[in-house]
Amino acid sequence: MKKITVAKGDGIGPEIMDATLEILFAAGAKIEIEEIEVGEKVYLSGNASGIAPESWESIRRNKVFLKSPITTPQGGGYKSLNVSTRKFLGLYANIRPCKSLYPYVDTKHPIMDVVIVRENEEDLYAGIEHQQTDEVVQCLKLISRPGCEKIIRYAFEYAKQQNRKKVTCFTKDNIMKQTDGLFHEVFDEIAKEYPEIENEHWIIDIGAAKMADTPEAFDVIVMPNLYGDVLSDIAAQITGSVGLAGSANIGEECAMFEAIHGSAPRRAGQDIANPSGLLQGSIMMLNHIGQNDIAEKIHNAWLKTMEDGIHTYDIYKENISKEKVGTKAFTKAIIKNLGHNPTILKAVNFSHSKAMQLPKYQRRPAAKKVLEGLDLFIHWPGCDPNELAEKIKKMEFAGIHLSMITNRGIKVWPNGFKETFCTDHWRCRFKPDERVIMTKEHIIQLLQNAILEDIDTIKTENLYSFDGKPAFSLGQGQ
Ligand code: NAD
Repeated sequence: MKKITVAKGDGIGPEIMDATLEILFAAGAKIEIEEIEVGEKVYLSGNASGIAPESWESIRRNKVFLKSPITTPQGGGYKSLNVSTRKFLGLYANIRPCKSLYPYVDTKHPIMDVVIVRENEEDLYAGIEHQQTDEVVQCLKLISRPGCEKIIRYAFEYAKQQNRKKVTCFTKDNIMKQTDGLFHEVFDEIAKEYPEIENEHWIIDIGAAKMADTPEAFDVIVMPNLYGDVLSDIAAQITGSVGLAGSANIGEECAMFEAIHGSAPRRAGQDIANPSGLLQGSIMMLNHIGQNDIAEKIHNAWLKTMEDGIHTYDIYKENISKEKVGTKAFTKAIIKNLGHNPTILKAVNFSHSKAMQLPKYQRRPAAKKVLEGLDLFIHWPGCDPNELAEKIKKMEFAGIHLSMITNRGIKVWPNGFKETFCTDHWRCRFKPDERVIMTKEHIIQLLQNAILEDIDTIKTENLYSFDGKPAFSLGQGQ
């Protein structure tokens, strides 16, 4: 018997959780439920994180969390519980299988069988945002080597375990050479350790277009957090409905299982929601806790129900479906089919679907890190970069000189274009002359000079090289 933590969530959450648990128990899942409250009610009671401390204890004790979608209230101050759960518990891998059920569920893509492996802890979802000037806000995109290594290794190990043939990587490293560049670089490194699995890299925009158009060209696709969030909804939707896909969030110690969709508040309380997404999440959970036979039994009964044409409204199609049912009747139909396999759709065999033990991340020896310059970001409401350069040049001292000014990344000085639109947010790059070795003292002096010249510094960014390789972007047009 395995104790698991369960949260029924908001909107359609309670209905789809009741349906899922009814099926799990009817199938003989050896689980004991510890229920916690998360989401809207908790937020509105004044808890900005949407979860009480004792609920965290339950999840950390049981290490397995089955969660219905929740509603994050609109407006400032509320932190997404989904994002914090993934990060607090180190659930670095988000696995989202999206498979067509043709000809029983209407889809333009009859032979689609794609698994999205989404990095789950970093990228723009670090949630580090600041307003810096009247006109400009920023969001930090953080990509780490451990983050990349862990998710990419997970994707290859998953492909190996599931006997899949290819892992594709999606990034935008033609633009984000440092962040997405690192993800791509680590992908190439790790792919070499799995010569039996084909590997390829696509730029995300054309890759996403190809996936939406020809998903049969893909097998496992691994990508950073934001892209994975967007693409997994698309992938699920084009199999027939976003209500069909489940998601496993896997960490070294804990795991959380859910549907990929949200709480669909407009559909709540009407007995119409499709519980398949959460049911798929719970099937992944059963595999994770070693109850593969029960997982298999439920999945096959679900396939049989799909095949029987007993469909909820979101996948109901007149000439394909036989009966349009609500959540409860759909649940009963699955329970009735427990022990039966589909006849046309391929029955699943989960005997190999075990929780994976991946090697721990090994930190590499530190590289030789040299300070090569400084980017000083300033708030200046003027619009002529030459006028700004005159002002900033007054800060120069002891071989530290202004080498470039950019606005939203594009070089505007020296030799900028008068056509370039400028905001009030400027980056002034300082570099040392060849004979000068730059130190942190130079940075302090530059900041002091900025105060003396009445320049509104909003942030600095150190420019480094690692092992002799410059590790910062050039200005666009530089
Ligand atoms: P949503 O996924 O909740 O719903 C979008 C539409 O998809 C619905 O109107 C409905 O037509 C359909 N749909 C979704 N799930 C369905 C199901 N099981 N059966 C039938 N139809 C289904 O997306 P949204 O409307 O953008 O978000 C609603 C709320 O959910 C927001 O508060 C959002 O923050 C939250 N949300 C939560 C999670 C989560 O808890 N993991 C994820 C995404 C969104």
